[in-house]
Amino acid sequence: MNTPPYDVIVIGAGPAGLTAATGAAHAGLKVLCLDKLAPGGALINLGELHDFGEASTGPDVASRLTDEATAAGVELGFGEVSAVTGTGPFAVETTDGEAHSARAVVTATGLNKGKLGLPNEEEYEGRGLSHCAHCDAPLVAGEPVIVAGAGGWAKLEAEELLRVTSQVTVIDAQPGEAFAGVKRLVGRIVGLEGGNGLESVVVETAGQRNSIPTSAVFVYVGQSPAAEFLPDSLARDATGHIVVDAEGRTAMPAAFAAGDVRSGARYHLADAIADGQRAAQSVVSALKKS
Ligand SMILES: Cc1cc2nc3c(=O)[nH]c(=O)nc-3n(C[C@H](O)[C@H](O)[C@H](O)COP(=O)(O)OP(=O)(O)OC[C@H]3O[C@@H](n4cnc5c(N)ncnc54)[C@H](O)[C@@H]3O)c2cc1C
Repeated sequence: MNTPPYDVIVIGAGPAGLTAATGAAHAGLKVLCLDKLAPGGALINLGELHDFGEASTGPDVASRLTDEATAAGVELGFGEVSAVTGTGPFAVETTDGEAHSARAVVTATGLNKGKLGLPNEEEYEGRGLSHCAHCDAPLVAGEPVIVAGAGGWAKLEAEELLRVTSQVTVIDAQPGEAFAGVKRLVGRIVGLEGGNGLESVVVETAGQRNSIPTSAVFVYVGQSPAAEFLPDSLARDATGHIVVDAEGRTAMPAAFAAGDVRSGARYHLADAIADGQRAAQSVVSALKKS
């Protein structure tokens, strides 16, 4: 087989992917980093960062990582990866019909946006259903809003909403700590209602169903690892995250995973960056040996 044009294709240009791509390029490898959106990943939608060790915003860190990747010689490409085939060299296909090949791949595609699991959900995406309090809070100033889910970063998202409205309700299937200033319901959303946009949700609590008026639901439940394009044979854990060893290697030679998509991820930016560095080191040492 001909030598593939790239040494490494990094799938996903979030913090893990950009860091992996930069590290590999610094070692002299030819790197393509593909993303279905603009570089930056989840950081693009965040305001002030927490637990990161430095005072910064998501977009600031995203643009710093992007600049570092470009300066290192990483080729940033646009494309939604739909399939990865081969066992090194790999063929990486995108939904718009492009095909690329490389000696190694790093998957750093993070999590798919949250889902309530309701049949008419798509109808309300962007018309009442949101995944970004920082982006959409100004649209719901003074109005009643719901945060679906209380785990992970949902609390911070609720706090972001409290800056613009005092009517924030958090709905989660499990009882948990109260969030100051926020109404908390134990239950789940089982219906979305409205004509031109979302007007209310049906909430099931203790076996009873009630309709609650709301202008928006911010969805932080039902996130899944964005790894559908990888072969089914690649080892995943029970929640669909890619299983990696301590060096970020998957069960497939020359295939690595980093960031929120990998098994055991703690969903923190600092971890995603550390994962990216680790994946870069592993790619470099794997390709040197081959
Ligand atoms: C609401 C919220 C608030 C947060 N706040 C903080 C915080 O304050 N502090 C902190 O430390 N962490 C925070 N985090 C967590 C942090 O943002 C993530 O841990 C980090 O972004 C994970 O990086 P990643 O590179 O693994 O994935 P992502 O940042 O999710 O990047 C993945 C990239 O892959 C791309 N992609 C996905 N599928 C494909 C495909 N098929 N083809 C091509 N590209 C694809 C996506 O478009 C995306 O750009 C927050 C997360 C959320 C959701």
